Amino acid sequence: MLKPICLLALIMSALPFTAQAEAIGGYAAGCQTGAIALPLTGLGFKVVRSERQRYYGQPVLIDYLHTLGDKVQQAGLPPMLVADLAREHGGPFEYGHRSHQSGLDADIWLRPGNTALPIPEQDMVNHKHYVLNRHFGDDQRRLIALAAQDERVSRIFVHPLIKQAMCHAYGDAPWLGRLRPWFGHSGHFHVRLHCPAGHDSCQPQHKVPAGTGCGNELASWINDKSGELYKGPRKPWRPVLPAACEPLLARKEPQ
Ligand SMILES: [Zn+2]
Repeated sequence: MLKPICLLALIMSALPFTAQAEAIGGYAAGCQTGAIALPLTGLGFKVVRSERQRYYGQPVLIDYLHTLGDKVQQAGLPPMLVADLAREHGGPFEYGHRSHQSGLDADIWLRPGNTALPIPEQDMVNHKHYVLNRHFGDDQRRLIALAAQDERVSRIFVHPLIKQAMCHAYGDAPWLGRLRPWFGHSGHFHVRLHCPAGHDSCQPQHKVPAGTGCGNELASWINDKSGELYKGPRKPWRPVLPAACEPLLARKEPQ
């Protein structure tokens, strides 16, 4: 007969892993507990490339996406296409971008009209002439504006030409400061939420500068296109993770 303590250990090991939701560490060197899976389809959104299983996020991120989906639906826009969030326990991706590690980042594709799915990610920039192409219009601007107006957003990375278009369309709207120019974001935009209250191990990023960022800062990005140049494949990103992440990431990802 098993001793009660052994029985308890057996029961504990058989229970599914449940943990309080927490974003641990930084956006580019962290992990998460208590993540929720975004449903593959919902009001105003669809998950793309779901076979990657990168649709997990902190409850605040999942709530943000549901809220944005509602707004997208109410605005009469086509469902937004949600790409990578994070792996179930976060941590670095095997390939692709460096952040998305703590369940607070989400990529949203800029879709060209309401075409039937599946579609590939559509670049909105003519890189040769350095202008936005015909696919970028009012629907794309309205989607980015809706995404940026939520107070939970720390920043949204967009291509410098997209930031410029948003500045032209929305003048001095206070949320424009959250739109941060960054090369490589010409087919999608990347939403990053603030560390949620009470997540003591979450490392916040510095605040975005005051103002809209539509003046000199944007001009410097538009004038210096060197970051646009392809420099070849990046080395795999292997950051030093917080110690609390080790046991989580040792768990095998679901196949
Ligand atoms: Zn991203």
